[in-house]
Amino acid sequence: MKITEVITHPMKVDIKQASWTAHEMSASAALILFEVHTDEGIVGYGEVQGGSQHVICELARQFKECILGMDPLGHIEIWEKLFSATSPRPGGLGSWDGLPGPLSREQRPQAMAAIGGIDIALWDIKGKVANQPVYKLLGGTSTKVFTYSTGGYYVDGEPLEACAEEFAGFVEKGYRAVKLKTGALGIKRELERIRAVREVIGPRTKLMLDMNAPYNVQDCIAFARAVEPFNIYWLEEPLHWYLQPADYVRLAEASPIPLAHGEREWSRFTVRDFIDSGALGFVQFDSTRYAGFTESLRIAHYAEQNGVIIAPHTAPQIHAHLVSAFGEAAFGAESHGGYDRHPIQHGLYSECAQAMPDGMVHLNERPGFGLEIDFDYVKSASLDN
Ligand SMILES: [Mg+2]
Repeated sequence: MKITEVITHPMKVDIKQASWTAHEMSASAALILFEVHTDEGIVGYGEVQGGSQHVICELARQFKECILGMDPLGHIEIWEKLFSATSPRPGGLGSWDGLPGPLSREQRPQAMAAIGGIDIALWDIKGKVANQPVYKLLGGTSTKVFTYSTGGYYVDGEPLEACAEEFAGFVEKGYRAVKLKTGALGIKRELERIRAVREVIGPRTKLMLDMNAPYNVQDCIAFARAVEPFNIYWLEEPLHWYLQPADYVRLAEASPIPLAHGEREWSRFTVRDFIDSGALGFVQFDSTRYAGFTESLRIAHYAEQNGVIIAPHTAPQIHAHLVSAFGEAAFGAESHGGYDRHPIQHGLYSECAQAMPDGMVHLNERPGFGLEIDFDYVKSASLDN
């Protein structure tokens, strides 16, 4: 079998209400659908979050030229070939070796995203060739995997406790674990939000805090001690973007709450150092942001051997397959308990693994990732329109 085409569909739609994490505002949802075609008529689908979309799509176009004619089942060879385009190599200048010249430094995150979209589509093809869902190819047997809902995004002008109503809705929908956006306000006001949420979800629902990198080590230690009485399951992305495993080690030594990290990492190489540090309880690598399913799988195996639990960031329709295959070494797949947070992920797929009222993501029996694409929706949300 040979790869004959790679197509990208960049999509962007406005969301009902602009909202903030501690770090950034979002007024729209964006996603790039990847298609990888083969000479046997099998088409694999992948999805990529992130931007800028036009750079990712242009890199995907360049990468296509490198992989046309290659066997789509050879995902390792393809991954390594594309990854090698990000570094200098003998014969690389001027594309004399048939790969793009070493990609510029500022395009690294977009290159890792483009590799990710292609790689996910290759795993979809692999499942379709075998006529099996991906989770079964990996040895998974669970068709239902634990999920939690993320919410509590900051909305301009909303009262502090507005998030409590949203979280009561998550529990009504069957979620047994929830994650609150935190970190945009001072500790006193954050404690009010956390208290309000803990009150409505009750003592048995797991509560995680998603912080989006607001603190240095000392301030985060104070925060962790202040929120400890609310029985917090993990602190996610607690430290500023530039802080490294050594800083997480100092935090972990003083924090009474386990740490979660990884969604912003580009590859297994930096995730390895976070895992090796011993500071993490949970690792959250996101194959739809960077580097694809192959990298998620590599990281999951490494995490398992080092006693770190995997909890992949978003995209449950992809990551539930990984969670299914890792049993006790996986916490669950993240979802957002409603349509409004990411309308594209709800509109794009007419069939996919999705969160159900029992607080689990249900995988289907379709081959590959079990995705059916609604191409009318793709057209309506496409930037190419
Ligand atoms: Mg997060």
